[in-house]
Amino acid sequence: MEYKRLDDTLFVRIDRGEEILEQVREVARKENIRLASVQALGAVGSFTVGVFRTEEKKYVANDFSGNFEIVSLTGTIDRMDGNPYCHLHMSAGNEKGEVFGGHLNRAVVSATCEMVIRTIDGGIERSFDGQTGLNLWDFGKNAD
Ligand code: ZN
Repeated sequence: MEYKRLDDTLFVRIDRGEEILEQVREVARKENIRLASVQALGAVGSFTVGVFRTEEKKYVANDFSGNFEIVSLTGTIDRMDGNPYCHLHMSAGNEKGEVFGGHLNRAVVSATCEMVIRTIDGGIERSFDGQTGLNLWDFGKNAD
């Protein structure tokens, strides 16, 4: 993975064999990102995406492997308990044009991944919400 910063925006190239979430967390740590929006495209060889079962308050995960193009990868970097927190969703299409997606757990790059991370001044913290079973944005929590 290599990246270049231009003003408030980071251009990140994630390389073959690298796992996307790990690389985003590494950039977030290195650049001390407190708040950012993320978007990317590229190609992946295997990935795991989840869907939240709201009744059971748990994720079910689906694994895919093969030749996939990232159709959309979007999300945020913010904070939880003082650490970078990445929330990404991804959809990817196969050779038949079938697209699968969901909450991104893991994705290994097969060719390249081109990511744009736009940093934003300020901070947002997350807190666990017992009602939904999710870590939600908590605007009452001091993120500074
Ligand atoms: Zn999600």
